[in-house]
Amino acid sequence: MSLRLLCVTAHPDDECFAFGGALALAANRGAEVSVVCFTAGTAGSYRGNAKTDKELGDLRRAEFAASCAVLGVNHHEMLDYHDGKLEFTPISELAGKLVERIRSLKPHVVVTFGGDGSLNTHADHTIVSAATTAAFHWAGSPKRFVGLGELWTPQRLYYQTTSYFLPERLRPLPAPWTLTLDIRAVSERKLDAFRAHTTQRPLLNQVEPLFRELGQQEFYTLAASMLAQPAAQSTDMFEGVAE
Ligand SMILES: [Zn+2]
Repeated sequence: MSLRLLCVTAHPDDECFAFGGALALAANRGAEVSVVCFTAGTAGSYRGNAKTDKELGDLRRAEFAASCAVLGVNHHEMLDYHDGKLEFTPISELAGKLVERIRSLKPHVVVTFGGDGSLNTHADHTIVSAATTAAFHWAGSPKRFVGLGELWTPQRLYYQTTSYFLPERLRPLPAPWTLTLDIRAVSERKLDAFRAHTTQRPLLNQVEPLFRELGQQEFYTLAASMLAQPAAQSTDMFEGVAE
């Protein structure tokens, strides 16, 4: 049996932009890595040659698959919720989708956005954080989503957070981090995964210099664990996690 990691995102490219280092490092150590993405990203400003939302969705679905392959993700899934409108979907419905997946994938560690909405303060990111938090705590509860798979309690929940802000953008209010990942060994792979998102090349062109200057680390906050404990600093997402 190996360690298993589940990452929950909102849009294709979140898996590399926000979590790419963590996912590639986990894959490198032999962990089984899964990504669930709620939307096909059809509200994006950058649309490649797509003429319709359907065309853009198809392109971005393929780009997401290619990016996941670069990162070493074992299992990826894109749900068909509307990009930009997650806040209007009942949170219990979104959490239910994740409870089902947590119970079937049985991750030891779950990682998602913080409630701040990440660097671009996207509302979808905030909702994904809330739904993932609920699902993390509910997947092992016999009182929640009865009959929706065998109960499973993951050991840790992490929120992605940041040590810097994007220039000329609304600033998030990020959580202080407890986990610092040195991603230098996989930072080129993180960029290669981003390059797989061909339609989002203008975005990559904007952020690549920032990534090269500041992106050699990723920061996360331990938001829930099996132990009652004071916050402590760590450099390993799986430290102390039992298979
Ligand atoms: Zn996003």
